[in-house]
Amino acid sequence: MYAQATQLTKREQVAPGYYLLEFDCPQIATAAQPGQFVHIRVTGDWDPLLRRPFSIMGTNEAASSFQVLIRTVGRGTQMLAEAQPGAEFDIMGPLGHWGGTVDLSGYSFA
Ligand SMILES: Cc1cc2nc3c(=O)[nH]c(=O)nc-3n(C[C@H](O)[C@H](O)[C@H](O)COP(=O)(O)OP(=O)(O)OC[C@H]3O[C@@H](n4cnc5c(N)ncnc54)[C@H](O)[C@@H]3O)c2cc1C
Repeated sequence: MYAQATQLTKREQVAPGYYLLEFDCPQIATAAQPGQFVHIRVTGDWDPLLRRPFSIMGTNEAASSFQVLIRTVGRGTQMLAEAQPGAEFDIMGPLGHWGGTVDLSGYSFA
């Protein structure tokens, strides 16, 4: 688990109220497993105080960055949605337990 200043490298609105954010962080991207999440401080200030949790959606091929998909529902997500590439956030992760792989042998998807 890492906690560090992490740069936002990409921000894309994918639908009304939904934003894909990409953060440059090889440590988290390399360590992340399916089902894990990150805790993001949405401001360097004290308000809002608490970190906001977001599932790790994926990592890039080189495992140097990871993405989250956020839906704006309140102040924290709105602040994240308005951030521009180059902005830095204090991010903690990856967090949560990894469930491991699922044995799908014996199932047919035809
Ligand atoms: C483990 C975990 C993983 C998560 N992963 C994701 C993710 O990948 N993408 C994502 O967009 N969100 C995710 N969430 C939810 C996300 O953390 C919250 O939506 C976020 O913390 C809200 O912060 P805020 O400051 O914008 O809203 P707040 O100011 O905290 O809340 C504002 C208002 O919105 C309401 N509200 C808060 N959250 C939701 C919600 N999810 N749906 C409807 N109303 C809500 C509150 O009740 C309140 O009335 C995850 C939550 C957890 C616990």
